Amino acid sequence: MTGAVPFDGHAIAPETAAFLAQSHRLLIGGDWVEGSGELVTCDPATGLDLARFQTGGPAEIDRAVQAARAAFDGPWRRMTVAERTAILQRLARIMESRATLLAQLDIIDNGMPGFIAHLTTANCVEMVDYYAGAVMRIAGKTIAPPRHIAAEAEALTYTLREPVGVCGQIVPWNVPLSTAILKLAPALAAGCTVVVKPSEETPLSALALGQMVLDAGFPAGVVNIVNGLGAEAGQALAEHPGVDKIAFTGSTATGRRIVTAALGNLKKVGLELGGKSPVMVMPDADLALAVPGVALATFFLQGQNCMAGTRIFAHAAIHDALVEGLIAFANGMTLGHGLDPATMQGPLISAAHMAKVMGYIAGAEASGARLVAGGERLDRPGHFVRPTIFTHCDNAMPVMREEIFGPVMAIQRVETTDLDALAALANDTPYGLSGSVWTRDLSTAHRLAARIRSGQVSINCHGAVGTNIPFGGYAQSGWGREFGEEGLDAYLETKAVTARL
Ligand code: NDP
Repeated sequence: MTGAVPFDGHAIAPETAAFLAQSHRLLIGGDWVEGSGELVTCDPATGLDLARFQTGGPAEIDRAVQAARAAFDGPWRRMTVAERTAILQRLARIMESRATLLAQLDIIDNGMPGFIAHLTTANCVEMVDYYAGAVMRIAGKTIAPPRHIAAEAEALTYTLREPVGVCGQIVPWNVPLSTAILKLAPALAAGCTVVVKPSEETPLSALALGQMVLDAGFPAGVVNIVNGLGAEAGQALAEHPGVDKIAFTGSTATGRRIVTAALGNLKKVGLELGGKSPVMVMPDADLALAVPGVALATFFLQGQNCMAGTRIFAHAAIHDALVEGLIAFANGMTLGHGLDPATMQGPLISAAHMAKVMGYIAGAEASGARLVAGGERLDRPGHFVRPTIFTHCDNAMPVMREEIFGPVMAIQRVETTDLDALAALANDTPYGLSGSVWTRDLSTAHRLAARIRSGQVSINCHGAVGTNIPFGGYAQSGWGREFGEEGLDAYLETKAVTARL
């Protein structure tokens, strides 16, 4: 890194250091404006303050919605699809050229390991390019006209795909840049305008993205970014009568509040919520694949991952060997600061969240689960919890039922290979976001995948998300789909036009 700047025993790029030293305001109507409050964001790996940032409440949300409406009715609506494509492509190139800044902000603000931050930043660039390419493919259909009109005259019926309008987008802290981009890019490609509310825990990468949006030349008000508390700014955005759609990623509890808040003007709602995904390990699983794959299904992003596979159903024939491998893997994971290239697992987001995770660990032991790895904090600053494994679990225990959002794996030994019985175990959950099946038998793999009720099932891998692959939840894991063509559809209305000729 040329001219690297020291940072708590590590090094960051000069551009990242300069960004941290800036004042961080709200992006409304194409300008950086003063907010009505201020908060501090800290590095979860050290607990040290990173930056102060301005926050908004209902008044700032209202200004941002008005700016988004003016842009929607004005310059953004009048742009040709070629211009909309080009401006998204410019954003992708700017993000690519400043990828180190974006990745380092997520590392120090969220605590994610560097290898994940660099990967997710590259995926974000890919996603903006993907949706830039999709703009020109937005198209309606011609359809046979209604019988009663066609009986009397020649007629033509066709559909138009039109943008939903002004969209509120509420982003959580666990993968901050990615979650912002996977909402923002399809909305902009569809021709919508947006008000983004990042999490107060991780405001920084969205602010850097805001400057890149301005540098790319988006008209004022197309993208507005208002940091603020969820209960104030987030709630005001979800309630606002001028917002046509609200897209939310976060907890199922807050998702319910979003639905209630959206009732006033019956705005459209997209929800990507929690999960407690099953991992089915069959007797013939390839352990060389399954051990690291199952471990990372739980421990990737320190378990702060909605897709995390945290309920492991291991067949008795393979259970002991799998557990032995998982313990060795968990104990071998290097915990540390995300800026350290050796780090495989970073800290949890906050002291409060760590206390919640430690509470689940204590509760699991009390409910009869057997702790075989981890179970404790690291004795150092920051919010580090060792990768933790429980065996002797059953599906009734809270450790098997509730989204812990931490590095906690619960394993249940199963005796059956009956696919309906296994599916009944997998599906005994209020959630349905992800899941995986580990077997060498193709028939078992696909038949069990078909029986698992969730928006995503991976075979001999876990959490296989991709820019072009639809993602979302069954049951209480959400409403609607993001990513891919479905992600664009979520920001488009269909209008049917019939002409009596
Ligand atoms: P929340 O669901 O409360 O937060 C997610 C986002 O919603 C944040 O931007 C938050 O703002 C905002 N928010 C909070 N309250 C409201 C509200 N009333 N109206 C509108 N927006 C609101 O998650 P938490 O951060 O509290 O985490 C709690 C648990 O949620 C985790 O332990 C985990 O189980 C789950 N979770 C799931 C995620 C997923 O990807 N599915 C992501 C994050 C959490 P702010 O942060 O500024 O308060």
